[in-house]
Amino acid sequence: MAINFKDYVANVKDFPDPGIIFRDISPLMEDGKAYAAATDAIVDYAQAKGVEMVCGPEARGFIVGCPVAYKLGVGFAPARKKGKLPRETVSVTYDLEYGKASLFMHKDAVKPGQRVLVVDDLMATGGTLAATIKLVEELGGIVVGTAFLIELTDLHGRDKIKGYDMFTLMQY
Ligand code: IMP
Repeated sequence: MAINFKDYVANVKDFPDPGIIFRDISPLMEDGKAYAAATDAIVDYAQAKGVEMVCGPEARGFIVGCPVAYKLGVGFAPARKKGKLPRETVSVTYDLEYGKASLFMHKDAVKPGQRVLVVDDLMATGGTLAATIKLVEELGGIVVGTAFLIELTDLHGRDKIKGYDMFTLMQY
């Protein structure tokens, strides 16, 4: 039977702030069949794109991206927060609703010309995705697709990243 992925998302009211509904993917990750099916859906998308490397931002991008990379038989390149990567990095600073954030990647994480899939658990405003794409492209990678478990459509993240193909498993 087909899995209804939304059955595996916990909708948490007023987290982290009043008025916000946090879409928590922990139940999906904790269910072997649902986690595998979600991974397989992204793998199918990536295979059609000829993906050679998967990249995801800290931390839930790792949970989504690593099993996809493993199944594709390609590498995974993490985009991390400040002070985590020990060697030479490239970085990008981007706006959050309140304040700014930065992401870093090792300079040799992606090879020039490599076909990259950027993944994360959820796209809200698209700021994290735009920042990760910027890092991959600075390293010479070609972003051939992007994939998320959840897209919050009201926030119009897609508008921020026009020109890139996107696969989302669930929309709210
Ligand atoms: P954006 O940069 O505004 O698109 O926010 C996306 C980032 O914030 C992702 O890395 C998500 O993990 C995180 N995020 C924002 N809202 C939620 C949520 O409701 N559930 C889980 N993660 C969220």
